[in-house]
Amino acid sequence: MDINYSSDTYSATLNPGLADSIDTMAEEANPFETLQEQIDDAAAYLDVRPDVIERLKRPERVLETTLSVEMDDGSVETIKGYRSQFNGDRGPYKGGIRYHPGVDRDEVTALSGWMVFKCATVGIPFGGGKGGIEIDPADYSESELERITRSFARELRPLIGEDKDIPAPDVNTGQREMNWIKDTYETLENTTAPGVITGKAPDSGGSAGRVEATGRSTVLTAREAFDYLDTDIEGASVAVQGYGNAGWIAAKLVDELGANVVAVSDSSGGIYREGGFDPVAVKEHKRETGSVVDYHNAGREITNDELLTLDVDLLIPAALENAIDGDLAKDVQADVIVSAANGPLTPEADDVLTERGIHVFPDILANSGGVTVSYFEWVQNRQRYYWNEETVNERLEELIVDAFDDLTTAYEEHDLPNFRTAAYVVAIERVLDAYEQGGNWP
Ligand code: NAD
Repeated sequence: MDINYSSDTYSATLNPGLADSIDTMAEEANPFETLQEQIDDAAAYLDVRPDVIERLKRPERVLETTLSVEMDDGSVETIKGYRSQFNGDRGPYKGGIRYHPGVDRDEVTALSGWMVFKCATVGIPFGGGKGGIEIDPADYSESELERITRSFARELRPLIGEDKDIPAPDVNTGQREMNWIKDTYETLENTTAPGVITGKAPDSGGSAGRVEATGRSTVLTAREAFDYLDTDIEGASVAVQGYGNAGWIAAKLVDELGANVVAVSDSSGGIYREGGFDPVAVKEHKRETGSVVDYHNAGREITNDELLTLDVDLLIPAALENAIDGDLAKDVQADVIVSAANGPLTPEADDVLTERGIHVFPDILANSGGVTVSYFEWVQNRQRYYWNEETVNERLEELIVDAFDDLTTAYEEHDLPNFRTAAYVVAIERVLDAYEQGGNWP
């Protein structure tokens, strides 16, 4: 898979495995209800009025639009699109745009809510938004996709802006689509405004370090977690589920810290070798053959469920929503889980793992590197002054380490059951502070 772009929540090209997972998610759990449950879980530990929490559980507004787009054969197709602006108390709405047949109002709304708490956890001055179009991009030519994207950008135009709402890539969108949206917006507004969208190609104002950012924040979180738990990441055994942008970069960077990546997988299956793998060589094999399976140094093939229940020091889910449910959680043997994927654990799995004393460091911290470097891209766009990769990485590390410290402080001070609740407690407090400081507008 070519990694040629990055996103706030995903960096995926046309990926059948990932696409399948989203269909599964729709069948398994309503993501909007999961979000509301997570907010309620954390609110139980906060001294906040229920009506104020209720306000946080619903989006401020959702655009639902029908695009009419001419196809290459001259026919006109009607296509559904959404943009949810969940909460803007802490700054402009921020979040990706997804192209997928499973896109619907609840999914987009939930994803926009998670963005609110992710931005607040890592302390960047954004609210949360998310958008989507209900299409399978594989069904369209490039010129049709350009017309669909520009049509959606015209609908978004009154809502978005450098200080209003800043989209980014998500599933099945990337630099190409971001560049089209930027161009449409700038043409219609008769201006230049690169900060209206992030995840752009470098020559259109994209940031250095954006492609590696999610794997990097995952490994920074793992490093801090091991330190906090007084164990050594050097020599630790690691299993990584999913070998796309987030997973493979996490595998590479954790290996560079001296850990031993003993198992990896993708949608075709997994491989395990006690002595560990060279993550770069495995990536090269996947690039050539389309999968990690059959890598010539593989000790043995394993299923994805086997990978998730291996007796390892660190498990990094980096593939799908709902990868570990309540049943599978009973068999997990890892000591620490650091979530690169969005929502890889169901709420039931979270409960089981908490009961079993397995430490889970949540997605809204661990994968926040993507949106954090999107924030850096926006800052650079506003300043028209660009940083080198070293500067981007240093500033990312500083924010993730600070966010980790805030999370563990909340965990101890409030005597919380797990680190997910701690992250939500920190994030909700920050959003509510901004809300209260803003006062009430009748
Ligand atoms: P990607 O498309 O680059 O990679 C996804 C990987 O998961 C692929 O290797 C695919 O084969 C694998 N996969 C699919 N189905 C699988 C299955 N059933 N079992 C095992 N592996 C399977 O996507 P990505 O950008 O790496 O995103 C992965 C996760 O990370 C998603 O949950 C995404 O929301 C999250 N994330 C990514 C970013 C980012 O910037 N890339 C940011 C935040 C969160």
